[in-house]
Amino acid sequence: MSLHASSLYGRSPHIVIAGGGIAGLTTALSLHAAGFERITVVEAAAAIRPVGAGLNLMPNAVRELDALGLLDALEAGALPTRELRYYHRSGGLISREPRGLGAGYRWPQLSVHRAHLQQVLAGAVRARLGAAALVTGVRVTGVEPLPDGRPRLRLEHRSGAVRGRASLEPDVLVGADGIRSAVRAALHPGEGGPPWNGMLVWRGVSRMPARAVGSFMLIAGDDRQKAVVYPMGRPTGPGREVLVNWALARPAEPDRGEGSGFGSGSGSGAAFGCGDERLRGDWDRSVPVETFLRHYEGWEFDGVSVPDVLRAADSAHEYPMVDREPLDRWTHGRTTLVGDAAHAMYPTGSNGATQAVVDARALAHALARHDDPAEGLAAYESARRPAMTALQRANRRLGPEVVINLAHERAPHGFTDIHDVLPAEELAAVARRYAATGAFDPDTVNQGSPYEVPLPAIG
Ligand SMILES: Cc1cc2nc3c(=O)[nH]c(=O)nc-3n(C[C@H](O)[C@H](O)[C@H](O)COP(=O)(O)OP(=O)(O)OC[C@H]3O[C@@H](n4cnc5c(N)ncnc54)[C@H](O)[C@@H]3O)c2cc1C
Repeated sequence: MSLHASSLYGRSPHIVIAGGGIAGLTTALSLHAAGFERITVVEAAAAIRPVGAGLNLMPNAVRELDALGLLDALEAGALPTRELRYYHRSGGLISREPRGLGAGYRWPQLSVHRAHLQQVLAGAVRARLGAAALVTGVRVTGVEPLPDGRPRLRLEHRSGAVRGRASLEPDVLVGADGIRSAVRAALHPGEGGPPWNGMLVWRGVSRMPARAVGSFMLIAGDDRQKAVVYPMGRPTGPGREVLVNWALARPAEPDRGEGSGFGSGSGSGAAFGCGDERLRGDWDRSVPVETFLRHYEGWEFDGVSVPDVLRAADSAHEYPMVDREPLDRWTHGRTTLVGDAAHAMYPTGSNGATQAVVDARALAHALARHDDPAEGLAAYESARRPAMTALQRANRRLGPEVVINLAHERAPHGFTDIHDVLPAEELAAVARRYAATGAFDPDTVNQGSPYEVPLPAIG
């Protein structure tokens, strides 16, 4: 066992992280905080660009970002999520529950634009590890093990002054390259692309007066058609406008040509057909709001009009609802996976970015506590994989959002009193079970970070 990360083998091991998204950047910062010195992040995109829409960070992830000294910077561009409300598609309120501080956590839940989170992380990597630690425009194209157990990465330089191919032989490789991970593909050849469940997701950001969106996170509909809307910033300007995140899901209509590039859906989460593999997990497919607006006419919940939110959007992005099959192994010798590369799951329960952050911290902690990096990576996997597998499976069953489906099944046309349809204890039990799956119940989270690495005293 070692708590002296920088003295492994008398030097700090060289750790390469493939992917500069939320998981990769947080891994770099966590390793640095744990005392590792030679860390390189290789990111395929030519630059860290402000892409994506909103996401929610749960208190267990905010706790870890706080431990990394990033809470103030993060909060400057985020909004605490204080309440979550589930609605029947007829407009009836199914339940409302406090979130974050109001739910008894010591840390808030945060609604934040993915771009803000990524910029805060990338800025901290450059400031703490040096600008050279984050290399953009370089794609990992393959990985193979060397006889001494180290990984050899094949790289392709796609922009900047240097173009062409190269290779790297670090001591440790962390695959943080998202749902279409090249590192995962090298470890699990033949797995293929992420399976599509036949649903389409549309996401976007709107700017509108704060009073038009309320101050809560809204989830409405059922398992066939859903809307999620929430503000993710404080009101600004004379119009007191806020940034509003929205995400919609419903089955593709193949006879209208919807999702024709993705293959045909089964709704089961199982892999099927081949479709256009390149499009699965693509976040850059822009479509006009008019493509799907008609499906949401009349969707209004306590004064929040979903069509009004959509009409105020700058742009909209469409992508297939994909996840990954749980793996029986993330770690192969000195190579492992974090974030979506390890356990991409359906966007339910605010766990995508949240669990990527927790992986990063757990990985750095485990590596710092073991002299042998392979043992450190194996310890990280045993600490994280069972719970992430359970979450991937829970999200295929709608996770905590199963309550909107239960209400729809039992009262398809609405209800007068929700408790005739869904007793309060049943509602509370769904939320409790889901929190226990990911160990993010208040009692566990409030015990503080289990991932702090005490650094050796200097002098
Ligand atoms: C462009 C984009 C926009 C997104 N927008 C949203 C959103 O609006 N809302 C939401 O909830 N989630 C969004 N997500 C997903 C969300 O960020 C993840 O589910 C979650 O944060 C886990 O993060 P991750 O770092 O594991 O994966 P990702 O965030 O997907 O990051 C993976 C990173 O690896 C890079 N990469 C991929 N392949 C390679 C390779 N071969 N070599 C080197 N680098 C590679 C990618 O460019 C990316 O920067 C988005 C992801 C991306 C990539």
